[in-house]
Amino acid sequence: MMQKKENKLTKTKYHYDNREYIILNKCPHCNLDIHPTVENTYRFENKSFHIHVLSLTCPSCRNDYFVVNKCEALSNAQNQYLFTIPEYTFRNESLIQNTSKKFQNLYTQSVHAELHGNHDIAFFGYIKSLEVLVKDIVIIEHPDSEDTVLFSSLIHCLEKFHSTNIHLFSKKLLEVLKNDYLHYQKGPEFSSYTELVKDCIDYFLLYLELLQKTFSLNEKRKEKEA
Ligand SMILES: [Zn+2]
Repeated sequence: MMQKKENKLTKTKYHYDNREYIILNKCPHCNLDIHPTVENTYRFENKSFHIHVLSLTCPSCRNDYFVVNKCEALSNAQNQYLFTIPEYTFRNESLIQNTSKKFQNLYTQSVHAELHGNHDIAFFGYIKSLEVLVKDIVIIEHPDSEDTVLFSSLIHCLEKFHSTNIHLFSKKLLEVLKNDYLHYQKGPEFSSYTELVKDCIDYFLLYLELLQKTFSLNEKRKEKEA
């Protein structure tokens, strides 16, 4: 059976001691969706900025981590997320573990770029991650086409090897994937494009999992027949 879609890593509000902090929804150690416990808070400040550090413990794996927020030194300023120590990895996420190291590197960097507010880099990073993922999948399914695949564009690979899947894509997603970034213009809907690309990555992560399960089933069948 196909694994249930894992929840996305997002920033979330966390209320503690009459203050609103911004933390990630998952533990950086075990990757579970958790509501962490506060162990301690620290505060650094000068005339311009206040830095808030939360020391948190995961209720599931019991490991500690820090989340760092900043805010401008106005009485009503909102906290902004800076980073988590240790940084989030996808070590324990089964769907990501199925993928190539190349995909994992690009994808992790894109996620961190997005968390740090580098939305343009994140957008291009997700598109390139999708390209690596789609090409890895095509090479598994069509090993003879490796040379063609490596020198084809993402959209060409999708049209040639995933023509049935591509029918499921929205018009907007296809438009985003078909155009190189000369055509891309940052508008108010920009962030929704990133979400479309991320959903598409999730789709192919599930597809890859199913593909690998089918492959291992076939191998077992062959072993039995031998
Ligand atoms: Zn944990």
